[in-house]
Amino acid sequence: MTRWGYHLPILTYHRIGALTGDHVPTVSAQAFEWQLAFLARHRYQVLSLDALVGLMDRGEPMPRRSTLITFDDGYEGVYSIAWPLLRRFRLASALFVTPNEVGLPGFMSWKQVNEMVRDGVTIGSHTMNHRYLPFVSEDRLPEEISESKRAIEQQIGVPVHYFSYPVGGYTPLVQVTVKHAGYRAACTTNRAWSRNGMDPFALRRIKVTERDRTPLFLWAKLSGYYDFFRRLERPA
Ligand SMILES: [Zn+2]
Repeated sequence: MTRWGYHLPILTYHRIGALTGDHVPTVSAQAFEWQLAFLARHRYQVLSLDALVGLMDRGEPMPRRSTLITFDDGYEGVYSIAWPLLRRFRLASALFVTPNEVGLPGFMSWKQVNEMVRDGVTIGSHTMNHRYLPFVSEDRLPEEISESKRAIEQQIGVPVHYFSYPVGGYTPLVQVTVKHAGYRAACTTNRAWSRNGMDPFALRRIKVTERDRTPLFLWAKLSGYYDFFRRLERPA
C-alpha cells in the first residue's frame, strides 16, 4: 500500500458542544448530527474496534464504505450530546478516557462512562495524565500506559484493549510499552503512515471538524484517500 493508498478512515472527535473558540477541537451538536445523518444516508458501515482488529488479525481486506467513530479525552458533551445521537442512529463508537481527568469540570464522570459501557461503547485508555508520551521518561511510561489500563478496568469492570496516544505522539519505545501492557491496538493521528497496510499500534485517524458539514469535505475524509486530498489542499 502506498502513501496514496486506501486506508479505512477512522474518525476522531474531541469535544461535542458549543463552539467557544478555545483550543479544544469542537464540533457542534448540529454538525455532528449532520455528519451521522450523512453516514446513514450513504449507508456507511460503522465498525467497532473489535471488528476492525478482527479483520486485521485475519488478514482480511478492509471493507470499502466503512468507518469508525472515536472520541478522545472524555468531554461531557460526548455523553450528553453525541451519545444520544449515536444511539438514535445505532452506530458503534469508541471513547478514550484519561483516568485523572474523569470527573473534572467539563469531563464525564465514571457513572456516565459506565452507562456508555453498558450500552456497548468501547472504552480505551488515553494515558493516566494526558501526557505527550515522546516527552515522558522511560520509567514513567508504565504509569501512563499500564496503570491507566488497570485504573479504567477497575472502574468499568471490563477489559480495556485499546489505547490512544495523546496528540498522536509515540516513539518505538512507547509502541513496545503499549504492546507489552496487553493492548490489542493503539490509535494515533494522521501523522503516521505505513507502507504495508495498517499498523495495529499506529492506527491512523482523521480529525472531523465543524467545517465538515458539506458532502464534499466529509466524503473526501471518508474516501480512504484523505492524504491525497490533503496534499491537494496544501500549497506547494
Ligand atoms: Zn487527548
